[in-house]
Amino acid sequence: MYASIEDVRLRIQSGETVISIVEQYLSKIEENKALNAFIEVFYESVRANAIAVDKKIVAGTAGKLAGVVVAIKDNICYKNHHVSCSSKILSGFESLYTATALQLLLDEDAIVIGRLNCDEFAMGSSNETSAFGPVKNNHNIAFVSGGSSGGSAVAVSAGLCTVALGSDTGGSVRQPASWTGTYGIKPTYGRISRYGLIAYASSFDQIGMFTNSIMDSQLLYTIMAGKDEMDATSSSQPVSKVQNAAHTTFRIGIMTECFEHPGLDAEIKKEILDFVAKLEESGMEVVPVSFPFLDYIVPTYYVLTTAEASSNLSRFDGVHYGYRSDNANGVEETYVLSRSEGFGSEVKRRIMTGTFVLSQGYYDAYYTKAQKVRRVMKNATDTIFSKVDILLLPTTPTTAFEIGAIKDAIQMYLQDIFTVHANITGNPALSMPFKKHSNGMPYGIQIMGDRFSEDKLFLFAKLIEENF
Ligand code: GLN
Repeated sequence: MYASIEDVRLRIQSGETVISIVEQYLSKIEENKALNAFIEVFYESVRANAIAVDKKIVAGTAGKLAGVVVAIKDNICYKNHHVSCSSKILSGFESLYTATALQLLLDEDAIVIGRLNCDEFAMGSSNETSAFGPVKNNHNIAFVSGGSSGGSAVAVSAGLCTVALGSDTGGSVRQPASWTGTYGIKPTYGRISRYGLIAYASSFDQIGMFTNSIMDSQLLYTIMAGKDEMDATSSSQPVSKVQNAAHTTFRIGIMTECFEHPGLDAEIKKEILDFVAKLEESGMEVVPVSFPFLDYIVPTYYVLTTAEASSNLSRFDGVHYGYRSDNANGVEETYVLSRSEGFGSEVKRRIMTGTFVLSQGYYDAYYTKAQKVRRVMKNATDTIFSKVDILLLPTTPTTAFEIGAIKDAIQMYLQDIFTVHANITGNPALSMPFKKHSNGMPYGIQIMGDRFSEDKLFLFAKLIEENF
């Protein structure tokens, strides 16, 4: 099968056609329907696009991603195709334009095979809040895939596409990547345009990618990163070039609070610390660092993201988009019933929490306070990165759990304790496959870097992959 972009390239070079690659993926998707990774397969357009790219290959005009089959999380817009955020409220809605990040891949002749299941509006850590049911983990179908980009992770892990796009607001690329043995990267906030990514919490959201190799992540990153006029928060800072020989030794920060956290699985902790010891023996500098705010990360995240979500999701009112209740009379009832029937319970919980933290009388106590805490965390993180090149930490406190096992919302929110930091402060972070746990499930290791230092993350990931 085609595990990476390089595999695809070699097969194309040896004469295989894009349409034959697509047909193989389509049958693999069919065989793996039970995983529930895809919400929709774009049978018609993917076949037509494959034939068009085959013609370009013959003419010698094909782009860098000819033959690469991409699947997209169901919150990324692709013109003239449905997009639903795995929610009933967007049922029937079709995108009017294509997300910039996706367009940049299409410009290099990648083709899109379908849209992938996720937590409703990307709110969740296990893909169980989707209106279309949970995605099953391909390493054990009784287990969750992780979330919110669960479909993207499983599609790449199970070989149902070459690469996938997801979004990461608090760990939604890195956490499911960790739980499926794939590579997941969340670039610096603003590094990849958010235009065409349906907003959850705009000051945290970032498009990220899932791949089966670090080289693929790097290639997609270099194609998608950059300023976009359509997203005012995209950065105009030049994209740093990955210099392969630039760095051979790294100062590796180990955050003490993270490894002392009671929620961290003992086996994951031991394996990572043993690995750090090996890195140190090989001559790398290991620097213990302190971040005394770890316990405030998840609460801060949930005050700020719910506030932003309550505002962003107010546009889904039964009038402008998708679902409208049949039972409503008049404008107000249309709003109330369409939203009550269209949103699932986790999304409603977030909208209500966000409305509360923004309400008169509570705004300063919650929202303003959380913004100040965010600034304190950002300053502390900048100080850490003045002393180290990268932070090495677990991606997740545990491996994937059984579907239905976690019922308590707070317990679910704590799954994100190690990933949310990078979103609060806007730093880039990636998860790469690390080990298989004695319980049989894979888990990843996380590398976090200073803002706009993705090149270092890629270099370090490659270095440890090749040498350890
Ligand atoms: N699990 C986190 C949440 O529910 C993160 C989700 C995400 O990154 N989209 O908000």
